[in-house]
Amino acid sequence: MSDSVAHNGGPLRLVVVNTPIGALGSGEGGGVELTLRSLIQGLVLRGHHITLVAARGSTLPAGCEAVELVEVEGVNQPSWQHAAEDAAVVMPRHGLLQALWEAALDLGEQADAVINGGYDWLPLWLTPRVKPRLFHLVSMGDVASVMREVIEAVGAWNPKRLAFHTLRQASDFALPLPPTVVGNGFDLANYTLQLGTSGPLGWAGRIAPEKGLEDAAAAAAALGERLLVWGLREDDAYAKNVEAGVPPGTIDWRGFRATADLQRELGACRALINTPKWNEAYGNVVIEALACGVPVVAYDRGGPGELVQNGETGWLVPADDVSALTDALQQVADLDRQRCRSWVEQNASRSVFSERVEAWILAGLEMDASINSTR
Ligand code: UDP
Repeated sequence: MSDSVAHNGGPLRLVVVNTPIGALGSGEGGGVELTLRSLIQGLVLRGHHITLVAARGSTLPAGCEAVELVEVEGVNQPSWQHAAEDAAVVMPRHGLLQALWEAALDLGEQADAVINGGYDWLPLWLTPRVKPRLFHLVSMGDVASVMREVIEAVGAWNPKRLAFHTLRQASDFALPLPPTVVGNGFDLANYTLQLGTSGPLGWAGRIAPEKGLEDAAAAAAALGERLLVWGLREDDAYAKNVEAGVPPGTIDWRGFRATADLQRELGACRALINTPKWNEAYGNVVIEALACGVPVVAYDRGGPGELVQNGETGWLVPADDVSALTDALQQVADLDRQRCRSWVEQNASRSVFSERVEAWILAGLEMDASINSTR
Protein backbone atom coordinates (compact mmCIF):
# COMPACT_ATOMS: atom_id res chain seq x y z
CA MET A 1 0.00 0.00 0.00
CA SER A 2 1.07 3.61 -0.42
CA ASP A 3 2.19 5.80 2.47
CA SER A 4 -1.03 7.76 2.30
CA VAL A 5 -3.66 6.93 4.89
CA ALA A 6 -6.10 4.38 3.52
CA HIS A 7 -8.66 5.31 6.14
CA ASN A 8 -11.25 7.88 5.09
CA GLY A 9 -14.00 7.28 7.59
CA GLY A 10 -14.21 3.57 6.78
CA PRO A 11 -12.95 0.64 8.81
CA LEU A 12 -9.28 0.46 9.69
CA ARG A 13 -7.13 -2.60 9.04
CA LEU A 14 -5.32 -3.12 12.34
CA VAL A 15 -2.78 -5.67 13.51
CA VAL A 16 -2.80 -6.15 17.30
CA VAL A 17 0.29 -7.78 18.82
CA ASN A 18 0.02 -9.57 22.17
CA THR A 19 2.69 -9.42 24.85
CA PRO A 20 5.45 -12.06 24.31
CA ILE A 21 4.66 -13.61 27.67
CA GLY A 22 2.29 -16.54 27.17
CA ALA A 23 -0.73 -17.05 24.94
CA LEU A 24 -3.64 -14.61 25.05
CA GLY A 25 -6.12 -16.21 27.43
CA SER A 26 -3.49 -18.04 29.50
CA GLY A 27 -3.30 -15.35 32.19
CA GLU A 28 0.51 -15.28 31.99
CA GLY A 29 0.43 -11.81 30.45
CA GLY A 30 -1.26 -10.29 33.54
CA GLY A 31 -3.30 -7.09 33.22
CA VAL A 32 -2.26 -6.63 29.56
CA GLU A 33 -4.42 -9.61 28.57
CA LEU A 34 -7.56 -8.06 29.96
CA THR A 35 -6.71 -4.79 28.20
CA LEU A 36 -6.12 -6.41 24.81
CA ARG A 37 -9.18 -8.66 24.96
CA SER A 38 -11.40 -5.73 25.73
CA LEU A 39 -9.69 -3.54 23.13
CA ILE A 40 -10.12 -6.15 20.39
CA GLN A 41 -13.81 -6.56 21.27
CA GLY A 42 -14.30 -2.80 21.31
CA LEU A 43 -12.54 -2.26 17.97
CA VAL A 44 -14.53 -5.09 16.34
CA LEU A 45 -17.76 -3.51 17.59
CA ARG A 46 -16.61 -0.24 16.00
CA GLY A 47 -16.35 -2.08 12.67
CA HIS A 48 -12.58 -2.36 12.28
CA HIS A 49 -10.80 -5.34 10.71
CA ILE A 50 -8.43 -6.91 13.20
CA THR A 51 -5.61 -9.40 12.89
CA LEU A 52 -4.27 -10.66 16.22
CA VAL A 53 -0.68 -11.89 16.38
CA ALA A 54 -0.13 -14.00 19.50
CA ALA A 55 1.49 -17.17 20.84
CA ARG A 56 0.14 -20.54 19.79
CA GLY A 57 -2.79 -21.59 21.98
CA SER A 58 -4.23 -18.08 22.19
CA THR A 59 -8.00 -17.71 22.20
CA LEU A 60 -10.06 -14.94 20.68
CA PRO A 61 -12.30 -12.89 22.95
CA ALA A 62 -16.04 -13.64 22.81
CA GLY A 63 -17.80 -12.17 19.79
CA CYS A 64 -14.52 -11.79 17.87
CA GLU A 65 -14.87 -14.78 15.52
CA ALA A 66 -14.19 -12.48 12.57
CA VAL A 67 -10.74 -11.60 13.91
CA GLU A 68 -7.91 -13.32 12.06
CA LEU A 69 -5.66 -15.06 14.61
CA VAL A 70 -2.04 -15.53 13.52
CA GLU A 71 -0.31 -17.85 15.98
CA VAL A 72 3.46 -18.04 16.32
CA GLU A 73 5.77 -20.05 18.53
CA GLY A 74 8.69 -19.17 20.73
CA VAL A 75 10.19 -18.96 24.16
CA ASN A 76 8.60 -16.43 26.54
CA GLN A 77 10.28 -13.05 26.88
CA PRO A 78 11.42 -12.16 30.42
CA SER A 79 9.23 -9.42 31.92
CA TRP A 80 10.63 -5.96 32.71
CA GLN A 81 8.50 -5.88 35.86
CA HIS A 82 11.36 -6.67 38.24
CA ALA A 83 14.30 -5.44 36.16
CA ALA A 84 17.11 -3.42 37.68
CA GLU A 85 17.52 0.20 36.54
CA ASP A 86 20.64 -0.70 34.51
CA ALA A 87 19.31 -4.05 33.17
CA ALA A 88 20.24 -5.07 29.62
CA VAL A 89 17.88 -6.08 26.83
CA VAL A 90 17.62 -9.87 26.68
CA MET A 91 16.61 -11.79 23.57
CA PRO A 92 16.06 -15.50 24.33
CA ARG A 93 17.03 -17.99 21.65
CA HIS A 94 13.94 -18.85 19.56
CA GLY A 95 12.17 -16.04 21.34
CA LEU A 96 8.44 -15.40 21.09
CA LEU A 97 9.15 -11.66 20.81
CA GLN A 98 11.11 -12.07 17.57
CA ALA A 99 8.48 -14.46 16.17
CA LEU A 100 5.63 -12.06 16.98
CA TRP A 101 7.36 -9.13 15.31
CA GLU A 102 8.47 -11.07 12.27
CA ALA A 103 4.78 -11.83 11.62
CA ALA A 104 3.57 -8.37 12.67
CA LEU A 105 5.97 -6.50 10.38
CA ASP A 106 4.92 -8.70 7.49
CA LEU A 107 1.19 -8.22 8.14
CA GLY A 108 1.77 -4.54 8.90
CA GLU A 109 2.74 -3.91 5.25
CA GLN A 110 -0.94 -4.36 4.32
CA ALA A 111 -2.43 -2.72 7.41
CA ASP A 112 -3.19 0.86 8.41
CA ALA A 113 -1.50 0.40 11.76
CA VAL A 114 0.07 -2.15 14.10
CA ILE A 115 -0.83 -1.85 17.80
CA ASN A 116 1.71 -3.23 20.25
CA GLY A 117 0.33 -4.39 23.61
CA GLY A 118 3.70 -5.55 25.00
CA TYR A 119 6.37 -3.59 26.85
CA ASP A 120 9.54 -4.52 24.95
CA TRP A 121 12.58 -2.83 23.51
CA LEU A 122 12.63 -4.42 20.05
CA PRO A 123 9.33 -3.10 18.57
CA LEU A 124 9.99 0.36 20.02
CA TRP A 125 13.47 0.46 18.50
CA LEU A 126 12.10 -0.72 15.15
CA THR A 127 9.40 1.97 15.01
CA PRO A 128 11.26 4.83 13.26
CA ARG A 129 13.12 2.32 11.08
CA VAL A 130 10.34 0.37 9.34
CA LYS A 131 7.53 1.16 6.91
CA PRO A 132 4.60 -0.38 8.84
CA ARG A 133 3.16 2.16 11.28
CA LEU A 134 3.80 0.84 14.76
CA PHE A 135 1.77 2.25 17.69
CA HIS A 136 2.59 1.39 21.28
CA LEU A 137 0.14 1.15 24.14
CA VAL A 138 2.73 1.48 26.89
CA SER A 139 1.72 -0.74 29.82
CA MET A 140 4.25 0.23 32.51
CA GLY A 141 6.00 3.29 33.82
CA ASP A 142 9.77 3.67 33.99
CA VAL A 143 11.38 0.42 35.12
CA ALA A 144 14.83 0.41 33.47
CA SER A 145 16.84 3.08 31.68
CA VAL A 146 17.19 1.19 28.38
CA MET A 147 13.39 1.00 28.14
CA ARG A 148 12.83 4.58 29.25
CA GLU A 149 15.31 5.80 26.64
CA VAL A 150 13.78 3.87 23.75
CA ILE A 151 10.26 5.06 24.72
CA GLU A 152 11.52 8.64 24.88
CA ALA A 153 13.29 8.20 21.52
CA VAL A 154 10.02 7.12 19.85
CA GLY A 155 8.29 10.04 21.56
CA ALA A 156 10.89 12.48 20.24
CA TRP A 157 10.53 11.03 16.72
CA ASN A 158 6.72 10.98 16.70
CA PRO A 159 4.83 11.35 19.99
CA LYS A 160 1.60 10.17 18.36
CA ARG A 161 2.97 6.65 18.17
CA LEU A 162 2.74 6.31 21.95
CA ALA A 163 -0.27 6.10 24.25
CA PHE A 164 -0.36 5.67 28.00
CA HIS A 165 -2.96 4.44 30.49
CA THR A 166 -2.68 7.43 32.83
CA LEU A 167 -0.97 10.82 33.02
CA ARG A 168 0.85 9.68 36.15
CA GLN A 169 2.37 6.77 34.21
CA ALA A 170 3.35 9.02 31.30
CA SER A 171 5.02 11.48 33.67
CA ASP A 172 7.86 8.97 34.07
CA PHE A 173 8.96 9.83 30.51
CA ALA A 174 10.32 13.04 28.98
CA LEU A 175 8.01 13.66 26.02
CA PRO A 176 7.89 16.63 23.64
CA LEU A 177 4.08 17.00 23.73
CA PRO A 178 1.36 16.30 26.32
CA PRO A 179 0.95 12.52 26.18
CA THR A 180 -1.97 10.65 24.65
CA VAL A 181 -3.82 9.04 27.57
CA VAL A 182 -6.33 6.33 26.70
CA GLY A 183 -7.12 4.87 30.13
CA ASN A 184 -8.32 1.30 29.99
CA GLY A 185 -11.60 -0.45 29.24
CA PHE A 186 -13.71 -3.17 30.81
CA ASP A 187 -16.65 -5.21 29.64
CA LEU A 188 -19.04 -4.09 32.35
CA ALA A 189 -21.44 -6.95 31.65
CA ASN A 190 -18.89 -9.07 33.53
CA TYR A 191 -19.21 -7.06 36.77
CA THR A 192 -22.32 -6.89 38.96
CA LEU A 193 -23.06 -3.94 41.22
CA GLN A 194 -23.48 -5.01 44.86
CA LEU A 195 -24.87 -2.46 47.30
CA GLY A 196 -24.17 -4.06 50.71
CA THR A 197 -21.89 -1.96 52.92
CA SER A 198 -21.07 -4.33 55.77
CA GLY A 199 -18.69 -6.72 53.97
CA PRO A 200 -15.02 -7.41 54.66
CA LEU A 201 -11.95 -5.52 53.44
CA GLY A 202 -10.33 -6.74 50.22
CA TRP A 203 -7.06 -6.50 48.34
CA ALA A 204 -6.32 -7.86 44.84
CA GLY A 205 -3.20 -8.06 42.70
CA ARG A 206 -0.06 -10.03 42.06
CA ILE A 207 1.51 -10.99 45.39
CA ALA A 208 4.78 -9.16 44.75
CA PRO A 209 6.69 -6.39 46.57
CA GLU A 210 5.76 -3.56 44.16
CA LYS A 211 2.10 -4.12 45.04
CA GLY A 212 2.60 -3.26 48.73
CA LEU A 213 0.34 -5.88 50.31
CA GLU A 214 2.15 -5.44 53.65
CA ASP A 215 0.65 -1.97 54.14
CA ALA A 216 -2.90 -3.14 53.45
CA ALA A 217 -2.38 -6.04 55.86
CA ALA A 218 -1.04 -3.64 58.52
CA ALA A 219 -4.10 -1.39 58.14
CA ALA A 220 -6.48 -4.37 58.43
CA ALA A 221 -4.57 -5.57 61.49
CA ALA A 222 -4.78 -2.10 63.08
CA LEU A 223 -8.57 -2.32 62.69
CA GLY A 224 -8.59 -5.89 64.05
CA GLU A 225 -10.11 -7.08 60.77
CA ARG A 226 -9.58 -9.83 58.23
CA LEU A 227 -8.23 -8.93 54.78
CA LEU A 228 -9.39 -11.00 51.79
CA VAL A 229 -6.55 -11.28 49.26
CA TRP A 230 -6.95 -12.40 45.63
CA GLY A 231 -4.16 -12.82 43.13
CA LEU A 232 -1.29 -14.77 41.71
CA ARG A 233 1.32 -15.67 44.36
CA GLU A 234 4.25 -14.47 42.27
CA ASP A 235 6.73 -14.16 45.14
CA ASP A 236 6.19 -16.81 47.80
CA ALA A 237 8.92 -15.58 50.18
CA TYR A 238 7.38 -12.10 50.08
CA ALA A 239 3.90 -13.52 50.75
CA LYS A 240 5.15 -15.44 53.79
CA ASN A 241 6.92 -12.36 55.08
CA VAL A 242 3.77 -10.25 54.81
CA GLU A 243 1.77 -12.92 56.64
CA ALA A 244 4.36 -13.13 59.41
CA GLY A 245 4.11 -9.36 59.96
CA VAL A 246 0.45 -9.41 61.06
CA PRO A 247 -1.56 -11.40 63.66
CA PRO A 248 -2.41 -14.94 62.50
CA GLY A 249 -5.67 -15.08 60.55
CA THR A 250 -5.48 -11.46 59.39
CA ILE A 251 -4.89 -12.52 55.77
CA ASP A 252 -7.44 -14.74 54.11
CA TRP A 253 -5.68 -16.02 50.97
CA ARG A 254 -8.34 -16.53 48.29
CA GLY A 255 -5.97 -17.49 45.43
CA PHE A 256 -6.18 -16.41 41.80
CA ARG A 257 -9.80 -16.40 40.65
CA ALA A 258 -11.38 -16.10 37.22
CA THR A 259 -13.10 -12.74 36.67
CA ALA A 260 -16.59 -14.16 37.27
CA ASP A 261 -15.62 -15.43 40.75
CA LEU A 262 -13.31 -12.53 41.55
CA GLN A 263 -15.97 -9.92 40.90
CA ARG A 264 -18.60 -11.81 42.90
CA GLU A 265 -16.38 -12.08 45.99
CA LEU A 266 -14.79 -8.66 45.55
CA GLY A 267 -18.21 -7.05 45.07
CA ALA A 268 -19.24 -8.20 48.55
CA CYS A 269 -16.41 -6.17 50.11
CA ARG A 270 -16.85 -2.92 52.02
CA ALA A 271 -13.70 -1.48 50.44
CA LEU A 272 -10.74 -2.44 48.29
CA ILE A 273 -7.34 -1.35 49.59
CA ASN A 274 -4.75 -0.47 46.92
CA THR A 275 -1.25 0.27 48.11
CA PRO A 276 1.24 0.33 45.22
CA LYS A 277 4.93 0.86 45.96
CA TRP A 278 5.74 1.60 42.29
CA ASN A 279 4.34 4.01 39.73
CA GLU A 280 1.48 1.66 38.79
CA ALA A 281 0.57 2.41 35.16
CA TYR A 282 -3.16 2.00 35.69
CA GLY A 283 -4.57 -0.42 38.27
CA ASN A 284 -7.10 -2.79 36.72
CA VAL A 285 -8.25 -4.07 40.09
CA VAL A 286 -9.22 -0.52 41.15
CA ILE A 287 -11.67 -0.32 38.26
CA GLU A 288 -12.90 -3.86 38.73
CA ALA A 289 -13.76 -3.06 42.37
CA LEU A 290 -15.48 0.22 41.45
CA ALA A 291 -17.45 -1.59 38.73
CA CYS A 292 -18.91 -3.81 41.48
CA GLY A 293 -19.71 -0.72 43.58
CA VAL A 294 -16.77 -1.19 45.94
CA PRO A 295 -15.07 2.07 47.01
CA VAL A 296 -11.28 2.09 46.85
CA VAL A 297 -8.94 3.40 49.52
CA ALA A 298 -5.62 3.92 47.78
CA TYR A 299 -2.25 5.55 48.02
CA ASP A 300 -2.04 8.77 46.06
CA ARG A 301 0.59 7.28 43.77
CA GLY A 302 0.58 6.15 40.13
CA GLY A 303 -2.58 5.23 38.25
CA PRO A 304 -4.77 4.56 41.32
CA GLY A 305 -4.04 8.12 42.50
CA GLU A 306 -5.51 9.38 39.24
CA LEU A 307 -8.42 6.95 38.99
CA VAL A 308 -9.91 7.20 42.48
CA GLN A 309 -12.04 10.33 42.89
CA ASN A 310 -11.24 11.40 46.43
CA GLY A 311 -14.37 11.58 48.58
CA GLU A 312 -16.56 10.33 45.74
CA THR A 313 -15.47 6.82 44.73
CA GLY A 314 -12.97 6.27 47.54
CA TRP A 315 -10.26 7.98 49.54
CA LEU A 316 -6.73 8.86 48.52
CA VAL A 317 -4.14 9.05 51.26
CA PRO A 318 -0.45 10.03 51.15
CA ALA A 319 1.65 7.17 49.79
CA ASP A 320 3.16 4.83 52.42
CA ASP A 321 1.10 6.36 55.25
CA VAL A 322 -0.48 3.32 56.92
CA SER A 323 -2.16 5.30 59.68
CA ALA A 324 -3.89 7.59 57.12
CA LEU A 325 -4.96 4.44 55.29
CA THR A 326 -6.41 3.02 58.51
CA ASP A 327 -8.31 6.26 59.23
CA ALA A 328 -9.72 6.44 55.70
CA LEU A 329 -10.96 2.85 55.90
CA GLN A 330 -13.24 3.91 58.74
CA GLN A 331 -14.98 6.40 56.47
CA VAL A 332 -15.97 4.27 53.52
CA ALA A 333 -19.60 3.89 54.60
CA ASP A 334 -20.11 7.56 53.58
CA LEU A 335 -19.42 6.71 49.93
CA ASP A 336 -22.15 5.95 47.39
CA ARG A 337 -21.56 2.54 45.78
CA GLN A 338 -23.81 3.35 42.83
CA ARG A 339 -21.58 6.39 42.15
CA CYS A 340 -18.53 4.07 41.97
CA ARG A 341 -20.21 2.00 39.26
CA SER A 342 -21.36 5.08 37.33
CA TRP A 343 -17.84 6.51 37.27
CA VAL A 344 -16.58 3.32 35.59
CA GLU A 345 -19.46 3.34 33.10
CA GLN A 346 -18.57 6.88 32.10
CA ASN A 347 -14.78 6.61 32.14
CA ALA A 348 -13.52 3.04 31.82
CA SER A 349 -15.99 1.02 29.79
CA ARG A 350 -14.86 -1.04 26.82
CA SER A 351 -16.58 1.35 24.43
CA VAL A 352 -15.04 4.51 25.94
CA PHE A 353 -11.60 2.90 25.80
CA SER A 354 -11.85 1.63 22.22
CA GLU A 355 -13.11 5.05 21.08
CA ARG A 356 -10.06 6.69 22.67
CA VAL A 357 -7.72 4.17 21.07
CA GLU A 358 -9.38 4.69 17.68
CA ALA A 359 -8.97 8.47 18.05
CA TRP A 360 -5.29 7.99 18.95
CA ILE A 361 -4.61 5.82 15.89
CA LEU A 362 -6.46 8.22 13.58
CA ALA A 363 -4.52 11.20 14.96
CA GLY A 364 -1.28 9.28 14.43
CA LEU A 365 -2.20 8.35 10.87
CA GLU A 366 -3.14 11.96 10.12
CA MET A 367 0.18 13.13 11.47
CA ASP A 368 1.96 10.64 9.20
CA ALA A 369 -0.07 11.83 6.23
CA SER A 370 0.77 15.48 6.93
CA ILE A 371 4.48 14.68 7.36
CA ASN A 372 4.45 12.75 4.06
CA SER A 373 2.62 15.53 2.20
CA THR A 374 5.25 18.08 3.19
CA ARG A 375 8.13 15.89 2.01
N1 UDP B 1 -6.77 -10.87 38.65
C1 UDP B 1 -7.58 -11.98 38.42
N2 UDP B 1 -7.86 -12.81 39.46
C2 UDP B 1 -7.41 -12.58 40.71
C3 UDP B 1 -6.61 -11.43 40.95
C4 UDP B 1 -6.32 -10.59 39.89
O1 UDP B 1 -8.02 -12.23 37.29
O2 UDP B 1 -7.70 -13.38 41.60
C5 UDP B 1 -6.45 -10.00 37.49
C6 UDP B 1 -7.19 -8.69 37.56
O3 UDP B 1 -8.45 -8.85 36.97
C7 UDP B 1 -6.30 -7.73 36.78
C8 UDP B 1 -4.92 -8.37 36.84
O4 UDP B 1 -5.08 -9.64 37.48
O5 UDP B 1 -6.70 -7.62 35.43
C9 UDP B 1 -3.97 -7.50 37.60
O6 UDP B 1 -3.83 -6.31 36.89
P1 UDP B 1 -3.31 -4.98 37.56
O7 UDP B 1 -3.41 -3.89 36.54
O8 UDP B 1 -4.07 -4.71 38.83
O9 UDP B 1 -1.82 -5.29 37.94
P2 UDP B 1 -0.59 -5.98 37.12
O10 UDP B 1 -0.55 -7.41 37.58
O11 UDP B 1 -0.88 -5.86 35.63
O12 UDP B 1 0.62 -5.20 37.58
